[in-house]
Amino acid sequence: MDKQQEFALRTVEERDIRFIRLWFTDVLGTLKSVAIAPAELEDAFNEGLGFDGSAIEGMTRVSEDDMIVRPDPSTFQLLPWRGESQGTARMFCDVLTPDGEPSLGDPRRVLKKELAKAKEKGFTFYVHPEIEFYLFKQQEDWSQPPVPIDQGTYFDHVPRSSGMDFRRAAVNMLEQMGISVEYSHHEVGPGQNEIDLRYADALVSADNIMTFRTVVKEISLERGIHASFMPKPLTDQPGSGMHTHLSLFEGDANAFYEPGQEFNMSLVARQFAAGVLYHAAEISAITNQYVNSYKRLWGGAEAPSYVCWGHNNRSALLRIPQYKPGKENSARMEYRALDPVTNPYLAFSVLLAAGLDGIEQQMTLGDPTSDDVWGLTDEERKAMGIEPLPASLEEAIKVMEKSDFVANVVGEHVFEYFLRNKRKEWSDYSHQVTAYELSRFLPTL
Ligand code: GLU
Ligand code: MG
Ligand code: MG
Repeated sequence: MDKQQEFALRTVEERDIRFIRLWFTDVLGTLKSVAIAPAELEDAFNEGLGFDGSAIEGMTRVSEDDMIVRPDPSTFQLLPWRGESQGTARMFCDVLTPDGEPSLGDPRRVLKKELAKAKEKGFTFYVHPEIEFYLFKQQEDWSQPPVPIDQGTYFDHVPRSSGMDFRRAAVNMLEQMGISVEYSHHEVGPGQNEIDLRYADALVSADNIMTFRTVVKEISLERGIHASFMPKPLTDQPGSGMHTHLSLFEGDANAFYEPGQEFNMSLVARQFAAGVLYHAAEISAITNQYVNSYKRLWGGAEAPSYVCWGHNNRSALLRIPQYKPGKENSARMEYRALDPVTNPYLAFSVLLAAGLDGIEQQMTLGDPTSDDVWGLTDEERKAMGIEPLPASLEEAIKVMEKSDFVANVVGEHVFEYFLRNKRKEWSDYSHQVTAYELSRFLPTL
């Protein structure tokens, strides 16, 4: 029994915890949860808890449907919304096969494997996500456009608004769970908000994002409103992204920082950026995994559509932000394609792998783009060698299908399940006769 396991067992006892929730995710990043009684916890640490994996998207083939979850004691936290007395705690889990081997369908394992690779090269990978979401009024009919809870816009201070109260409640609850928040503010769209988590290593961050989504949903339920991370819920308003700042450290030193170079970018930073841009199209189905994700990417409003980089250029896919002198540890790059419904474990895995590949292959970073790339003509972009991101889930699937790189990072098992699921989503979607088609064509055709 290690110290963290002892701490969890002792806390359960001292705080009179009634349920312990074991959390893990499927291939799409949907949170899965099973509750155990305190008396079962020691066994769960030692042997894990068995469950039927065949019913979980991407977990197993039917022939090997028994799976095991084993809680990671370093993630032990109390769930504040379940109350003080007879409370509930949670831990993220590793998923194992009946033989005790890591499951090939466990996205958390994919990220751990990639982080171990980075570690072999002497790197730790940190990320800092900026998570956007909308707050809507409750509605009965989900086929109707949602109604935002306020008419605020960027950085608006909406006095006594339910949005501000909401953010305060969310930040408090996250902090109670050990998740530090850096900023929170009203975003550009009506009812749209953003909460930025402090940077942490990529595994902790991915766990934090899963917790974040749950916290935001819980608070919205308490308040009778509907919180949504859907990438593009309103046709004429900005979508919700999850811009993520990436950095590599070698020990205590930021490996992206080198004074005197252009934008203080080290060679490692340039190669990492080159790798990320090189692989951007083929990882798109993972970073932007839903039909609706592409409506955000191609809907303007500061979401990236083209593969390019820039310094403080918000139309670029990869942005090198300005930082204050003396704050070299904050040297980083912001990947702007991600949206808040990605599977964070897989997304951070493919981004890290892309950057490491750039370092390994010593890729060369082209020139930065200072123009507004949306404002250029197709010819101008072509002349500058700027390629578009996939325009739809279908295009993204087609590029990913051919990618040995993605198959290697996520493993054949996840690769196949993921693509199968996404092909079905595209097929279901593309066969629909939409409200748009009815109102556009029915009157005249
Ligand atoms: N909502 C924009 C997006 O979808 C981002 C706005 C911003 O924070 O710059 O990416
Ligand atoms: Mg934002
Ligand atoms: Mg940003």
